[in-house]
Amino acid sequence: MNITHISAECYPIAKVGGLADVVGALPKYLNSKITKTQVIMPFYNNSFTNSNTFKSVFKSKIKLGNQDVAFNIKTLVNNTLDFNIYFIDIPEFLFKEYVYSSNDTERFLAFQIAALDWLLSQDTKPDVIHCHDHHTGLIPFMLQESYKYNILNNIPNVFTIHNAQYQGSFSHDNMSLIPEFNFGKVGLLDWNGQINPLAAAIKCAWAVTTVSPSYMAELTTKANGLETLLKAEQQKCYGILNGIDWKVWNPETDSFIVENYTVKTAQKGRLANKKYLCDKFNLDINKPLFGFIGRLVYEKGSDIFPDTFKQSLTSKNHTVLLLGSGDKNQEEAFINLKNNNEGLYNTFIGYNEALSHIVYAGADFLLMPSRVEPCGLNQMYALRYGTIPIVRSTGGLKDTVIDMALPNGFGFCHENVEPQEIINNINRAVKLYNNKKEFNNVRKKIMNIDHSWDASAKEYIKLYNSLNQI
Ligand code: ADP
Repeated sequence: MNITHISAECYPIAKVGGLADVVGALPKYLNSKITKTQVIMPFYNNSFTNSNTFKSVFKSKIKLGNQDVAFNIKTLVNNTLDFNIYFIDIPEFLFKEYVYSSNDTERFLAFQIAALDWLLSQDTKPDVIHCHDHHTGLIPFMLQESYKYNILNNIPNVFTIHNAQYQGSFSHDNMSLIPEFNFGKVGLLDWNGQINPLAAAIKCAWAVTTVSPSYMAELTTKANGLETLLKAEQQKCYGILNGIDWKVWNPETDSFIVENYTVKTAQKGRLANKKYLCDKFNLDINKPLFGFIGRLVYEKGSDIFPDTFKQSLTSKNHTVLLLGSGDKNQEEAFINLKNNNEGLYNTFIGYNEALSHIVYAGADFLLMPSRVEPCGLNQMYALRYGTIPIVRSTGGLKDTVIDMALPNGFGFCHENVEPQEIINNINRAVKLYNNKKEFNNVRKKIMNIDHSWDASAKEYIKLYNSLNQI
């Protein structure tokens, strides 16, 4: 079976969040079980594209409204990824230093049209087209309704919602950018008076998946306006928990971390990583270290950290290190929190892949007070590295973390995004940390939990097979 993934992000080429990790990992696991998987993504102006060599395999022009826009399909000369990858190079739209901006309508429409034009030109067509998030949300519609893609419309397509908060809506005034389609079907594009790529994908895709069973259930009551649509389309919706890339996220081999370790050597290896963090960020190594890694946006609940730590750090019995970037008010509040908390608190504002790995390897606990967390990869990385998660029970966090008070529990859970609830769990965690025997037992237990892609990839294959039999 030939599977083609189309996505705006793919690790290690371009990463903003979990979407990249998933699209960089799932194809590897599918490849080991299915004949061939390829990823199509934009060609950005970033460190990966600047430090690798590419060759052109196809050139053509798309029509974007009245404009003729030239595009070039490139591939890697030395591909060390475990799957085929093709880049859509459209210099004027996609070749930017960023992945997303505030005005992406034309950029990602050009990307989607070029991807389909290229598939159209190929003799061998994919058996399944798998699209990810709203940047590729118009593909299921175009496959079904745009005249020029008629020949592709019997190819099953799967659409995965990684985050329903972002929908990519734009005005009907831009409708002429979409390749000509049967106007009687314009309703498929519309949601609340706008063209909504996420809604169009949910309506038109053969199957819709989300990244955890609990998030799938939540979307019928909380989907940023798409609740009724998701309820109506339930029969073709599936919640499949993401896995983690066992090869990239492995404390035994991870080249980003200060000292590698196994379950057996975790105590020593993790201490070396904690020491690095404590030296670099001036934190007391003898106290339990609570970490956070993430985009500083409302959904992540990180806005309540300043209030939380102003209170919790008065106890002086723990330390905190926050890594993230995003909302400028949050960034400023994180920096201001350094005042009066020297030796107990620090923050790194920015995106730093290497540092994130060291935090997973060196922090004792990882905080995730998310308001919305479709799957969440951080808690699964934390488990693999032996860092105990403290999470708000929502979405994928609910599916992957069991509170210590329950049978087989190993983490700390809270129900609400409230400073006091986090503080209560920090207190429980400090108590556990001070009971060294129990703390080490929990650490051993979590490092042995298997969240590799194997199980989830099998679910996707089952879905692809079922669609090919329709
Ligand atoms: P989301 O996709 O909503 O951002 P996920 O939990 O699915 O959340 O994935 C987040 C990914 O991004 C993880 O790999 C995490 O380590 C990484 N990440 C987030 N913020 C940063 C940062 N500031 N520096 C390094 N890595 C980050």
